[in-house]
This record gives sequence, structure tokens and C-alpha cells, in this order.
Amino acid sequence: MRVYNFSAGPSAISSEVLKKARDEFLDFAGTGMSVTEISHRDKAFEAVVKETESLVRELLRVPEDYCVIFVQGGASTQFAAVPLNLMRNGKADYIVTGNFAKKAWQEGLIYGDAVKIGDSSDKLYSYIPDVDKLEYTEGADYVHITSNNTIFGSRYSKYPNCKAPLVADMSSEIFSRNTDVSKFGVIYAGAQKNLAPAGLTIVIAKRSLIQEPLKICPTMLKWKVQDENGSLYNTPPAFPIYMAGLVLKELKEKGGVEAIQQINEYKAKLLYDFIDGSALYKNCVEPEFRSIMNVPFVTGNAELDAKFISEAKQAGLVSLKGHRLVGGMRASIYNAMPVEGVKALINFMKKFETENK
Ligand SMILES: *Cc1c(COP(=O)(O)O)cnc(C)c1O
Repeated sequence: MRVYNFSAGPSAISSEVLKKARDEFLDFAGTGMSVTEISHRDKAFEAVVKETESLVRELLRVPEDYCVIFVQGGASTQFAAVPLNLMRNGKADYIVTGNFAKKAWQEGLIYGDAVKIGDSSDKLYSYIPDVDKLEYTEGADYVHITSNNTIFGSRYSKYPNCKAPLVADMSSEIFSRNTDVSKFGVIYAGAQKNLAPAGLTIVIAKRSLIQEPLKICPTMLKWKVQDENGSLYNTPPAFPIYMAGLVLKELKEKGGVEAIQQINEYKAKLLYDFIDGSALYKNCVEPEFRSIMNVPFVTGNAELDAKFISEAKQAGLVSLKGHRLVGGMRASIYNAMPVEGVKALINFMKKFETENK
């Protein structure tokens, strides 16, 4: 039986996509081989890379002068790749709005002067600092943000309007809401939240910015090299690229990012409205900055939280345990979570509240 999977990552993939992958698994595109067996230089696989790239470009309306590359190592490797590709003047700004944002900043410190210009840890990352009031560093190579904070459940309601190129870790929200790519120098995302199985990281970068990586930048982390080789410099993460293609084809058929954004906003509103109206559950993020992808909530009683998680699991609602830094529960309601899944969660929450008054 399929359950409703609220995992923050790796996370749910639609049954339709999984079935399609299953059906093609032994014989991909008439090759008589699985997509996991064919050479990455095979025409059939090159077509997969090209098609997945063109779906990314189409769905996010990526401008012509940006590259779209598929790499490995997760978003965490990009924490290093960002300074290694961009920090030519040795300084960059970071806005620290959560655990991953902090890790990105700490990685930046290894390579240069990573200036923390904003930090919301004073209130357990329950808000995003006012981006219009921050002091941006003159001559910074870039400004790094984490656009959606997976663990704390916050997201930017508006982006910094800064002189330096904006670099965004969009791991937990890419393809969930409209994004004007031209406002960013670089966008990167680990695929396992909203796109594909783990193992793939997607980087979208303005080509003019990535031509001179630092001398010490490992070849494999040079975005320019990956771009020039069409993401085939070495063996790429073939299976997740193929899966990303299936997920994006499905997204396109369902009306693209605009359509899924409406559904995502609807799902999030259902859940937040219920939480705000309940006497038992509480979400601590300032409403303006609430994520539509990750919704943490607590009862304020750790024992009751544990009971909730265990009973929810029995009801087919799984992976609701909150991150250890926050405790309580977290419902990740990415693109693949249907409205019915969120309604089932709310019904369970209602029942649990009545039974535990
Ligand atoms: C999950 C996540 C990461 C870490 O991704 P890996 O692919 O595991 O390295 C980084 N940033 C954000 C915002 C995330 O949600």
C-alpha cells in the first residue's frame, strides 16, 4: 500500500512517475537495456540529458545566456563550488536564515571573506531579515541566500535587491513557485526534495559569471567545464537525470510551474489555516515568511508529539517527525504531495486533537 509520505528529503515521487520508470526499467527506449545500464555516451542517453535540460529551461523560462548543468555531490558540494567559481575578489555576503544557510556560509569562510550580513538565529530562524535594511558589502562577488529553509519552514517573500549577483540554494523549493531566473546569478538545488531521487544536483548559472573559477577550483566543480561538456564531462548521475525528466514531463502536462504553484499555495493555506485555528498545534514562523513546502508544527509537549508521529504512521501518514533542531512535527508538502494527502493529514490532526484534549 502506498502511504502519504511527508518526508523532507529524499521525498515523495508520484506513483505515475514511478510506474512509468518501472515499465521502462528493463528496456529503455528500445535499447534492450535498462537506463541504468547504458553508456552515458549512448545516443539514447544523450537524448535524455538534452530533453531534461530543455524541460528545465522551458518550465523555469531560463534565459538563453544561462547554463543548466547536472552534477553530483548534493547541494552541500555546491556550498564549496559557489565560492570556488565566483569568489574572485575574495569576499561575498551570506544571509543566514537556517541550518543549510549557515553551512553554506561556513563553507564560504574556507575560501575567503564570507560576510554574514543577516542572521535570524536570534528567534530560532522563524523569520527572514528585512533584505532592504541589510548592509551589503561593497565589491562582494555575490550574495548567497537559501530561498526556502527546509528545516525551519521559512522562505523569502521578496529577494535582496543587491548589486552583486544573487546566488540561491533552492533545494527545497525549485519548481514549486514562479521564479524569475534573470534576477539570479546562480541557482542550485539538490534534486531529492522536489525533483528526483538523490544523486543529482542542478545548477543554473549566468554564463558570463562563471568564466573564471578560482585557480584552486577542482575541475569537477568548475561549472564552466560542466557547461562546455553538456554535463557529460564524466559519468553523470544517469538514473536521477532520467527520473527528473519524467517528473518534469509530468509537471509540464499538469500546466507547469504556475499551475503547481496554485496547488501548492492551496495545500499550504489549508494546513496553516487549520494549525492557526487549532488549540493544540502551533507553527512558529512569522506568517509572511511561511514556506509552502515545509510546514513544521508542535504541540508543545514532546511526549504528545511522539504519540502523534507514531499514530499518524499507523494511519498511513509517514515521515512527519520534525528535524532534531526544531522537534515536533514537520509536514513537507512538495509538488508530489496531492491535495488529498494534506486533507488526510488535517483530518488526522483533528481526530488526534479531539482524542487528546
Ligand atoms: C537538503 C538541503 C541541502 C542539502 O542537500 P544535499 O543534497 O544533501 O547536500 C542543502 N540546502 C537545502 C536548502 C536543503 O533543503
